[in-house]
Amino acid sequence: MPAKLLTGKEVAQKMDLDIQKDVQELKAKGVNPALRIMIVGEAEDSVYYANSARKMAEKNSIACELEQLTGTMSQDEFVNILRQRNADKTIHGIIVMRPFPKQIREDVVKYILSPEKDVDCFNPVNAGKIMAGDLTGFPPATPQAVMEILRFYHVPMSGREAVVIGRSMVVGKPMSMLLLSENATVTVCHSKTQGLPGVCRRADILVAAIGKAKMITKDYIKIGATVMDVGINPEGDKFVGDVDTEQAKEVAGAITPVPGGVGTVTTRVLLKHVIKAAKLQNP
Ligand code: NAP
Repeated sequence: MPAKLLTGKEVAQKMDLDIQKDVQELKAKGVNPALRIMIVGEAEDSVYYANSARKMAEKNSIACELEQLTGTMSQDEFVNILRQRNADKTIHGIIVMRPFPKQIREDVVKYILSPEKDVDCFNPVNAGKIMAGDLTGFPPATPQAVMEILRFYHVPMSGREAVVIGRSMVVGKPMSMLLLSENATVTVCHSKTQGLPGVCRRADILVAAIGKAKMITKDYIKIGATVMDVGINPEGDKFVGDVDTEQAKEVAGAITPVPGGVGTVTTRVLLKHVIKAAKLQNP
């Protein structure tokens, strides 16, 4: 039987309904949830991403302002502005787009963004909260989107073998912690892992977050496994995942498509985090 497609659209539609209900409740209490996206410079990718996040926020009645700052500003100037946004009670969530121009150091700025407003897990305090199982934190949007999809489609996690390929701070590491918090038995793989296909074939849930187009072929997949493809890799005029979807479908039980899978849910997670931040800031 070909694998079931775990499409993001249905998950996103359900999340939109929840978000809109929460926004109405907050507005009834006089709180207008608001997101600020800050970009230093004019990186095309950042501007594109920020504009699509803004449209999605506005569709869900969340105010979203894009703040584009000059790419020549000093680190001190940027830190001053960021502190002002931290203190601004009309802003509940802040996303700081990366990469920065070279005069601004990410390892300095990430500690300045207020953890309470850090809806995409830039400040290490929020990474630490995932480890501690502290639910007041904000996991990064992408691994959280994987969890939303797994929960929506009722994929069992407790006691199951989960293998995550990739150990970045934005996807792989937090992904492993989120799966662990659902009582999965988690293995994290990376570029130095020996015998990768064999390790992956142990997985009931396989998460590919590698950044290598179609690297995961059917040799990496246990029959009936759930495959979550986080990869977004340009191929000609389209994007493909880290999994060779056509091959994987022959053996997997379920798989997320690319496009139309994890990426579709990611922006909704950010919006849910803005709502959560607004609620925490207005108890
Ligand atoms: P990254 O920082 O480049 O990390 C890639 C990870 O894959 C590293 O841990 C690396 O291992 C590992 N890796 C690389 N080659 C490998 C190999 N041959 N075998 C085993 N492991 C290997 O990438 P990322 O930011 O985590 O992103 C991963 C993918 O997700 C990319 O395609 C990216 O575009 C996509 N992404 C999607 C979304 C979304 O919303 N869907 C969001 C963010 C990113 P080492 O640590 O040993 O180098």
